[in-house]
Amino acid sequence: MGGTFDPIHHGHLVAASEVAHRFELDEVIFVPTGEPAFKQDRDVTSSEHRYLMTVIATASNPRFTVSRVDIERAGLTYTVDTLRDLQKERPDADLYFITGADAIAQILTWKDAPQLFDMAHFVGVTRPGHALSDAGLPNGVVSTLEVPALAISSTDVRERVADGEPVWYLVPDGVVQHIAKYGLYRGLP
Ligand code: NAP
Repeated sequence: MGGTFDPIHHGHLVAASEVAHRFELDEVIFVPTGEPAFKQDRDVTSSEHRYLMTVIATASNPRFTVSRVDIERAGLTYTVDTLRDLQKERPDADLYFITGADAIAQILTWKDAPQLFDMAHFVGVTRPGHALSDAGLPNGVVSTLEVPALAISSTDVRERVADGEPVWYLVPDGVVQHIAKYGLYRGLP
């Protein structure tokens, strides 16, 4: 499951659990991005904070793990590199790449797009009422799943923290505490 996770919230966790159930996955590897390829216009929280919050949020689930492949690779994060690194670590695995449907809608513009479809099956998780437009996508390479809990968004969590509003129960308790401890998202414009 790829994402910026700035911060990780319960929508991401419910989405991972739903996709794992639907596709009978053995494990969900959360992969926080390093430098996101299409996000050079806004300040993204340091990858170490995003990684730590992802570890805290997933710690209690034995089927959830967190990978540092995107964080440790220099330069911008491209999914083709993520999948290549994960294939090296788990050569026998049948890989599914899960992320937000809004992100997957742009997949044809991603680096080495045609190759991606041979490397993994893609699953786009959507918020209620936001269908994925699959215009132009090859048949059967992308599945979508609507996840009601994705009414929660990282943008909303960041704005709530900046406005001094509570984020309890939108993100796991340990993530609330991590945000408070390090003063994340306080100074947003
Ligand atoms: P984003 O633009 O931050 O997010 C787009 C939408 O998808 C937002 O609504 C976001 O909600 C949601 N979303 C993102 N990750 C999600 C997840 N794991 N589960 C559920 N919803 C999710 O997208 P991003 O985080 O930069 O990129 C997502 C993934 O696609 C990353 O792994 C990234 O590396 C990959 N990607 C690759 C390329 C490329 O190879 N060229 C280009 C773009 C993205 P929240 O803000 O609430 O998460």
